[in-house]
Amino acid sequence: LTQLYAPLNFLGFIYREIKHSLADMERMFTLLDEPPEVADRPDAATLSADAVDVRFDTVAFGYDARRPILRGVDFHIPAGKTVAVVGASGAGKSTLSRLMYRFYDVDAGAVRFNGTDVRSLSQDSLRRHIGIVPQDTVLFNDTIYYNIAYGRPEATREEVIDAARSAHIHDFVMGLPDGYDTQVGERGLKLSGGEKQRVAIARTILKNPPVLIFDEATSALDSHTEKAIQSELAAISANRTTLVIAHRLSTVVDADRILVMDQGEIVEAGTHRELLERGGRYAGMWRLQQETEGSMA
Ligand code: ADP
Ligand code: MG
Repeated sequence: LTQLYAPLNFLGFIYREIKHSLADMERMFTLLDEPPEVADRPDAATLSADAVDVRFDTVAFGYDARRPILRGVDFHIPAGKTVAVVGASGAGKSTLSRLMYRFYDVDAGAVRFNGTDVRSLSQDSLRRHIGIVPQDTVLFNDTIYYNIAYGRPEATREEVIDAARSAHIHDFVMGLPDGYDTQVGERGLKLSGGEKQRVAIARTILKNPPVLIFDEATSALDSHTEKAIQSELAAISANRTTLVIAHRLSTVVDADRILVMDQGEIVEAGTHRELLERGGRYAGMWRLQQETEGSMA
């Protein structure tokens, strides 16, 4: 029996690895059928840093060469700072997050981490430095515990539960008959969009990386839960390099810099106050959102 066990164990390992990479891709590419085409260079460097400075250097990119999406995108997130991106749906905001995570390579210009082009870093080391809460989270077909602990597999049970509490998902989990052992995903309990977002937030809090990307990370939450989680997110991003893609402008007011994107270009940039004073596109969006939120209250 022990002779059988080793290969079975190995198969289990392979299975888990495959399952991870599939779910990883799914998480980012729920709308995509083609696999990402980036590969490590043979001489790829290993990123190892406690603080990361992110730079988009005149980046151009299109998913299809015939249809450019980003044009001349230039911005800088100094280590520990927060840059927010706002703009209409389809403007190219999520595309920025995919280029940072290097799911695709740029067509021109460069994305740099601490000055190094991400194309010359190993993907594994790059991604270890990034925690991402994507727009649509796809969970692994495994337990809730596993889905959170994946952020840092060596974490203790207490740390996993602390992260779940910070993401306001712990009470929900404790209310399930199997608690943290509940199977979720396609073959288990189907979580709502907001519950999945909170699992992804817990995973990211647990991972605690130097770079954070929140892509409309709280869009599926009710406004009460969103407010509660906002303060947790603000706390964990305080000393981390953060890209926040926001649907609700109230969540970007405190960002160090706000970028307004339109059709693949940055059309305005500044602090909340500067952009309001300019009276341009951001100011218009702000006024509109104040009115609609006021009328809903
Ligand atoms: P936003 O996040 O601002 O709503 P995205 O960055 O997701 O916008 O998308 C920008 C543009 O790129 C859109 O026109 C979208 O249709 C297109 N796009 C996004 N993802 C893909 C993809 N995987 N393949 C082809 N086109 C895509
Ligand atoms: Mg998007």
